Amino acid sequence: MINLRRFLAILSVASGMFAVEVAFSLVPQNLLAFPASDRAPGEFPDKWIHGSKSAMDNQDPAVQVHRFNAHTYILRENKAINYEGAFMYVFFGNGVALLIDQGSTSSPALFPLRQTVDDLIVAWEEEFDQSGTQLIVANSHLHGDHYAAWNQFVDRPNTIMVGLTHEEVMDYWGFDSYPEQRIEFNLGGREFVVTGTPGHESSEIAFYDKWTDLLYTGDMFYRGRLYLEDWDAWAASIKRLRALADDYPVSYLINNHIEMTDQATVDYPIGTTWQPDEPPMEMSLSMLDQAVRATENISQSGIYTFDDFLIYNEVPWAYTTDP
Ligand SMILES: [Zn+2]
Repeated sequence: MINLRRFLAILSVASGMFAVEVAFSLVPQNLLAFPASDRAPGEFPDKWIHGSKSAMDNQDPAVQVHRFNAHTYILRENKAINYEGAFMYVFFGNGVALLIDQGSTSSPALFPLRQTVDDLIVAWEEEFDQSGTQLIVANSHLHGDHYAAWNQFVDRPNTIMVGLTHEEVMDYWGFDSYPEQRIEFNLGGREFVVTGTPGHESSEIAFYDKWTDLLYTGDMFYRGRLYLEDWDAWAASIKRLRALADDYPVSYLINNHIEMTDQATVDYPIGTTWQPDEPPMEMSLSMLDQAVRATENISQSGIYTFDDFLIYNEVPWAYTTDP
């Protein structure tokens, strides 16, 4: 145990003060390794649950739990419960799990996210001989379709609630020069880079996981209608993500929604609760490059169509449904 503590201390000191707290308060039984040097593989499903013709007759689970790999889970809210079909993420490190986003439905009866995450943690601890895993409840950005079930976690023991104000988000992650800053975040030995990505929403952050090389881009870049409240901020954020991808290897870009069909340029109508022909959720760097080119060509508000996403640049909010 002493050696383990020493190892974690070295690991933590190298990664900043916050990690020291996490590592010393939670010493796991078996140390899991998350080397940044090798890309940990993972799998996406062939199809996500995607609602049904009749929401009343939907038989899918309220929350789809997809195991991307042993220590990474992607969750999706059933579109029959809320048409947003939002994705949520659980990343595990030694002694700590990070939940990013909490979907679009508050009611635990309709949408038992807390129960789902609790079950996931119990099963993960059993499988990897862990215990006492702390949960961090965090958000990609502060829109109601991504924190609706935040309330389910407020009385959960051994849980850090990052908070739902800009100030709390900045304070928790340690931003003193948002959005440009890159924060090195150590999730129990699993290293992330967190940076600011405003434009869709003014407190948005992106996460890069050095272990899987996944880059999580929330609502600022996904296969759908990219609603931009601040074009200049979004354009700078897209370039910031591209620069991050120049400095770190990226396997896939992952995010919060699918609104496109599997036909280039064609989206499902707003509010659709059945999407049988969805493209994959994950995106490629070439799509990000297309967005970078868009930042150089678009100078006016309006709707701009691309194969894999649509830019809704500063159009009136009446066009959108994202609160
Ligand atoms: Zn949003």
